[in-house]
Amino acid sequence: MSLQLQNTLSGKKELFEPVDPEHVRIYACGPTVYNYAHIGNARMAVVNDLLVRVLKTQFKKVTYVSNITDIDDKIIEASKETGEEIYSITSKYTDIYNNDMSALGVKLPDIQPRATDHIKEMIALIQKLIDANKAYEKNGHVLFHVPSFENYGILSKRNRDEQIAGSRVEVAPFKKDPADFVLWKPSPSPLPGWNSPWGFGRPGWHLECSVMSEKSLGLPFDIHSGGIDLVFPHHENEIAQTCSISKHKEPKDFATYWFHNGFVNVEGEKMSKSIGNIRLVHELNKKYKGEVLRLTLLSAHYKQPLNWTEEIIEQNSKMLDRLYRVLLELSDISVKLELPTDSIMESFLDDLNTPKIIAKLNEEANSASSASKDRKVKIKKNLLSTGKILGILEDDPENWLGYSQKSKENSEEIERLINQRNEARRSKNFNLADTIRDTLKDKGIEIEDTDKGTIWRKSR
Ligand SMILES: [Zn+2]
Repeated sequence: MSLQLQNTLSGKKELFEPVDPEHVRIYACGPTVYNYAHIGNARMAVVNDLLVRVLKTQFKKVTYVSNITDIDDKIIEASKETGEEIYSITSKYTDIYNNDMSALGVKLPDIQPRATDHIKEMIALIQKLIDANKAYEKNGHVLFHVPSFENYGILSKRNRDEQIAGSRVEVAPFKKDPADFVLWKPSPSPLPGWNSPWGFGRPGWHLECSVMSEKSLGLPFDIHSGGIDLVFPHHENEIAQTCSISKHKEPKDFATYWFHNGFVNVEGEKMSKSIGNIRLVHELNKKYKGEVLRLTLLSAHYKQPLNWTEEIIEQNSKMLDRLYRVLLELSDISVKLELPTDSIMESFLDDLNTPKIIAKLNEEANSASSASKDRKVKIKKNLLSTGKILGILEDDPENWLGYSQKSKENSEEIERLINQRNEARRSKNFNLADTIRDTLKDKGIEIEDTDKGTIWRKSR
């Protein structure tokens, strides 16, 4: 059994063979930090977290790098709109991103480099590209000259017309060729910037990943990943920057496998600001447990678009309840965690086939109640070891179920206690009212007195 991954570069599923079998290295393009993370960001993070967990079952050492883009036009815009300092925006949303992802069971990358810590290296790379006649300076701008790189389009398979149509137009007057893209641009005061041989300015977005991936991992490394929307122009431009001055002038000088996850749609529509259907992780987290959101994000194969609906979240929530109920039934069996059965492991290694794994997990769970003692041991082992790689079933079953069962079965009891407390308050028996409030609190119920009466909710 060995790992197969779909490589965007070849368009095929390929056997995964690391450059250094002792050390697997992977780089994923991370978020631009100026706003709350949405489920599109979360899908990238969860899928790559899963990929790293699977790699760790096969290889001793895996280094995972994912960057933070902390200088970008969008961040500058956010600062203009809110009047908040750029640094305060980026540090706040970096922390929020990391907290939100941690709630989804995503481990922090081994290295999380920030763009603004690598300006010196970016300036050095631009200088190399100019010296090699791959880039040119015009009016304080430095542009990469796309026709100078023969392999441009190799990843996205876009032809020249499509490349031009997809490139940004705002610096058109300085371009030698319509497909050329910005490496450096002027940053007139009070915009943030750095001194460079081409004047005070700031880097273009694509540049930072070429620099930070090489610095953190060395070249070539194994897997370069990101959302499917990054194939063009971001990854194509990264390849141009890194490979136009590399040995073979090919993407393999940079990374062997180019790994991309599909879009997330919401209720059948593209997620967009104009439609107003962007789903934020921190909002969803108030309503659903992290494991529910994580399992929902993994419910479709990572390559496919994922249709995010209330219904699918509910389905996955119920599925987790069911799996935890089986674990509760098996709670007197102790097991030692190993890898899942070969049949489940094969699906993990077959390009992370999560829909198949989840189906097998359900089959296993369904057979538990009628199973023999020996079989029960195997089922429990399999549920927990598969859950460990998927990043689910890590809660205590009683804890998980107690929380949801209590709320369903005891709502009558809760209403009765609330009425009793209101009665006590009316008769100014505040000691009794406080005691009842504490009793409810012990049951995991928080109450709030509003002008429409007392409302209650489960505390998390
Ligand atoms: Zn990138």
